[in-house]
Amino acid sequence: MRKSTLSRREMLGRTLHLAVIGSMPILLNACAKPEFHCQDVSSVGEGDLALRTALEYQDVSPHGEQKSCSNCSFYKAGDKDACGQCTLVRGPIHPLGYCNSWAAKG
Ligand code: SF4
Repeated sequence: MRKSTLSRREMLGRTLHLAVIGSMPILLNACAKPEFHCQDVSSVGEGDLALRTALEYQDVSPHGEQKSCSNCSFYKAGDKDACGQCTLVRGPIHPLGYCNSWAAKG
């Protein structure tokens, strides 16, 4: 059997390195939390609200920023750091949001 040549300090460093890398998805997800929300649907009609719900609209895309409302062909941006609009889903739409009708911008 080969004897390990790693010192205790090197092993501790590598363990910490792996722990940091392992927690990256959690840290990145925390960074993706929106600073504002687009959930005020008080002006949305019942039918449009049902569609919004059926398409499972959410303020944070589970697929990351690359597949979010801001990259969807139906999205119309609002002011900076404000909700936008969607030609398909009524009500305020978050640029980092997502629904099941996402379609890449052409
Ligand atoms: S269709 Fe869905 S993913 Fe695309 S902008 Fe509208 S709400 Fe966002």
